[in-house]
Amino acid sequence: THFGFETVPEEEKGGKVYQVFESVAKKYDVMNDMMSLGIHRVWKDLLLWKMRPLPGTQLLDVAGGTGDIAFRFLNYVQSHHQNKQKRQLRAQQNLSWEEIAKKYQNEEDSLGGSRVVVCDINKEMLKVGKQKALAQGYRAGLAWVLGDAEELPFDDDKFDIYTIAFGIRNVTHIDQALQEAHRVLKPGGRFLCLEFSQVNNPLISRLYDLYSFQVIPVLGEVIAGDWKSYQYLVESIRRFPSQEEFKEMIEDAGFHKVTYESLTSGIVAIHSGFKL
Ligand code: SAM
Repeated sequence: THFGFETVPEEEKGGKVYQVFESVAKKYDVMNDMMSLGIHRVWKDLLLWKMRPLPGTQLLDVAGGTGDIAFRFLNYVQSHHQNKQKRQLRAQQNLSWEEIAKKYQNEEDSLGGSRVVVCDINKEMLKVGKQKALAQGYRAGLAWVLGDAEELPFDDDKFDIYTIAFGIRNVTHIDQALQEAHRVLKPGGRFLCLEFSQVNNPLISRLYDLYSFQVIPVLGEVIAGDWKSYQYLVESIRRFPSQEEFKEMIEDAGFHKVTYESLTSGIVAIHSGFKL
């Protein structure tokens, strides 16, 4: 291969992955849109719909990079639960809409105690995420933490939901990351992973191969001046286990009721599991 990732010893994978994301951080969002033709947005929305967070949910988004899942989470809890609460307030306390609007001027209130911690190993990705949060007006209920999925800087039993979107395939020891996910979740907590998976339709598979190997590295070179990082992207997607194999790995980490759903002919899948 051009980048030599296939031959990189395990202990050096972390360093290579760091370089890749350091180099793509600034162009990350544009590239995501270009390469997936915007579909990654739909996949991320679907992750939120599956999650359906309740008010007060404590979410940990690992490999959260530039905040895509965190911002969706904040939007979700704000719009779904705030509207409901407002209707309740109006009905029960007979407040006027003006009074209700005043009550919700404080952003913290409008989240109903929900909170998201974004944890990523890469400073540059976090930096881009923080800048985006400022620019788009996300402040309350949001924290950024530098940390490794394989050794999370959090206590046991802390979070209601753990998400990792397009992150776990970059982790050197996936089993260790899964064990960490299990450790930091509260009993009853849910693990949700959005990741590239195995295409289950032969025709789509041919087209997808063509696109992955012929188009993506070229796009990477043209838009980000970075062929190698996008070559890595394609290789890492191919090496990631199938839906069923990954399901077993999640079960091996101690999760129960593990299920998955393939999206877009299996180009990606969402895996879910519970800590009992
Ligand atoms: N979740 C975001 C999204 O869906 O757009 C970002 C995904 S990006 C493809 C992968 C992220 O994983 C990068 O930000 C990278 O720094 C992070 N990452 C790689 N290895 C990691 C590790 N061991 N622990 C935490 N984050 C890691």
